[in-house]
Amino acid sequence: ALFQAKQQKQRIVVYSPEQDGHTLRRLTLMAELRAAIDRDELSLYVQPKLDIAGWRIVGVECLVRWHHPQYGMVPPDEFIPLAEQTGAIRQLTNWMLRKGLDWAKRWRDDGLQLKVAINVSTVDLLDPLLAKRVSGWIRERGLPADALLLEVTESAVMQDAEGALPMLRELRDFGVDLAVDDFGTGYSSMLQLKRLPVGELKIDKSFVMGVLRSADDAVIVRSTIDLAHNLDLVVVAEGVEDDTTLEWLKRFGCDLAQGYLLSKPMPADLLSLWLDQAPYLCAGREHVGLGHG
Ligand code: C2E
Ligand code: MG
Ligand code: MG
Ligand code: MG
Repeated sequence: ALFQAKQQKQRIVVYSPEQDGHTLRRLTLMAELRAAIDRDELSLYVQPKLDIAGWRIVGVECLVRWHHPQYGMVPPDEFIPLAEQTGAIRQLTNWMLRKGLDWAKRWRDDGLQLKVAINVSTVDLLDPLLAKRVSGWIRERGLPADALLLEVTESAVMQDAEGALPMLRELRDFGVDLAVDDFGTGYSSMLQLKRLPVGELKIDKSFVMGVLRSADDAVIVRSTIDLAHNLDLVVVAEGVEDDTTLEWLKRFGCDLAQGYLLSKPMPADLLSLWLDQAPYLCAGREHVGLGHG
């Protein structure tokens, strides 16, 4: 019986086609990411950020997309962790930074004052040359340092605060803006948060999406808005999907909103067209768009 059980156990591990497929996909994605960057399989999508009180688009978050020749669109939640494991994340981040800054420059040349946000992982922050490269790319394009904002997840920065802090300080000293992303999913104390050289706090969408139906989520979001303001941080709600939630956030003083209500992430080259049709202001545009009635 023992032998049989062992055999069965083995069979589950070795022959499960589902697991095999899963592992194969993981390994394939891990092995191919670097080449995918060179082969132009990645693209940069953007999602607008709205200043709620001013009804004005003030920036965009850049989000990577991978159009895999075999798997189709692979979501970043799947391949970013793999890229962190293999170290390919550094190449990916550099690619996103250069592309994102190219767009920042192009929009500014068109008169649009948009702050461009790029997601970075702790692996990136442990690269001692990150700030020098970033400042070089910003100068090359003649951009002000605060045209760029870097988003770091709460859990990542708390997990390795010792390692990440010096790099965050160097970036901040150069003038780049920093945000804590997915706030509420980690376990940082007020003191830890205060020690971070960040100017913006993004409330995780899992809480924002629940404010209308969960009293817990509502309390969490309200107190996070207050916490952020007490620490002089700009507070952003991500995952805003409907008008009622936006109204709720406005009532409780949330500064910025991002979410499907405004737009799903879109290819960067569609942004100015979107702005023309959206009912929001944007620095550099005279009028609100004519779309949406
Ligand atoms: P994130 O940085 O927290 O980005 C926000 C995510 O929420 C994006 O998912 C966005 O599409 C999604 N989202 C925005 N508004 C809504 C909404 O109203 N409803 C719903 N259901 N979702 C909304 P996405 O693009 O799939 O990215 C997932 C995560 O992958 C990002 O979370 C970020 O942690 C990571 N990621 C994406 N691009 C990059 C990148 O270039 N570099 C790094 N290091 N990480 C990235
Ligand atoms: Mg982000
Ligand atoms: Mg986030
Ligand atoms: Mg998130």
